[in-house]
Amino acid sequence: MKKRIAVLGATGSVGTQTMDVARALKDHVEIVCISAHHNWRLAAQMVNEFHVPYVVVAGEPEAQNIKPEIPENVQVLYGQNAAVRAVEESGAGWVMLASTGISGITVFDYCLQHNITVALANKETVVCGGELTRGLMEKKKKKVIPVDSEHAALYQCLHDSYDTSRVKRLIITASGGPFFGKSRKELQSVCVEDALRHPNWSMGQKITIDSATLANKGLEVIEAHYLYRVPQERISVLVHPQSIVHSMVEFQDSSILAQMGPVDMRLPIQKAMLEEEMLPYPFGEGVDLAKIAQLSFYHADMQTFSALALAYQALQAGGSMPAVFSFANDAAVRLFLQRRITFLQIPELIAWALDTFAGAVCRSVDEILDMNKMIAKRAEEQYC
Ligand code: NDP
Ligand code: MG
Repeated sequence: MKKRIAVLGATGSVGTQTMDVARALKDHVEIVCISAHHNWRLAAQMVNEFHVPYVVVAGEPEAQNIKPEIPENVQVLYGQNAAVRAVEESGAGWVMLASTGISGITVFDYCLQHNITVALANKETVVCGGELTRGLMEKKKKKVIPVDSEHAALYQCLHDSYDTSRVKRLIITASGGPFFGKSRKELQSVCVEDALRHPNWSMGQKITIDSATLANKGLEVIEAHYLYRVPQERISVLVHPQSIVHSMVEFQDSSILAQMGPVDMRLPIQKAMLEEEMLPYPFGEGVDLAKIAQLSFYHADMQTFSALALAYQALQAGGSMPAVFSFANDAAVRLFLQRRITFLQIPELIAWALDTFAGAVCRSVDEILDMNKMIAKRAEEQYC
């Protein structure tokens, strides 16, 4: 029987790559639900190509637009909890969570409660859910499969588990982004276009800016802390410009396992989709190490790229400070993309928020969502 899967954030970078993998694995999976936000045109194409019975869009205007483009019997949902309802009604047993920001936390929570496997691309959900989602995952951890390439690599090094009982250190690799090696002075004048030019990966706008500031690595250190239960002092970041080693695990006896592979998100996506099974990689030849010839590693420059240092600081502070870090970063990236703040004001805004909201503790998903709105509003008042 085919696996019934839902792809949330199907119209995004990870989402479209998930659809590529589903196309290649069409004898193994059936897409029963997709979600888009504003891009109803691409969602309509996907519904028609994959015969998807449930589609979620942002609101009524998108729903009105998409309906004439797809068969009448397709269910179109929007509004509060639409993604949860669509996952439930479509009977999906495996959900790719590839929407951006905190929007995925409600459906993540639903899936964990209902034993639905989550392929987790959306790191903000784990980072902002913090101790709340960690508690849930403690019982259901086998049902969350990391897709973020670094965490998928760690998972594979740990034999598809979260068992870190013999682990000395998790080593997360970073490409370094477009500004690797630059000084703070040089970063003063970089513009949006410079920051969107990632050397190795093609991704959504938000995560591309996060890669340029190293806030993405900060989010990944926090994500690793919650997924693998390893304290921050035992999680390191190494810059590895070739992006072939996706991450490494150092064990107690000082041996190190590294996971290598093509620079292609479709590999961790395929691995998550197949779970225990393994099939050939259908998108190319794989890695030719002799051709690459050299793999290099450097310490991350946390003084210049202070967003990474701030992520460690947020983890150290505990409570909901990792969520404050993530929300402040979301707000800062939005303002940077709107050209209302400079590149170096991104970490400055994060530092301001960590100071302003010091000691924050959220006790429910609703409180987390409220805090997001408050930080977005206050950040705009403060910086614009
Ligand atoms: P994109 O911006 O490319 O895509 C985001 C997707 O989410 C789109 O389908 C978009 O819909 C939808 N979306 C946007 N806002 C909302 C909202 N408020 N509610 C529901 N859906 C929404 O992002 P990426 O694919 O790059 O990233 C997705 C997640 O995966 C992020 O958390 C990112 O950190 C993580 N990730 C991404 C990687 C990558 O290679 N891109 C690698 C590892 C992790 P629409 O386009 O229709 O408006
Ligand atoms: Mg990553």
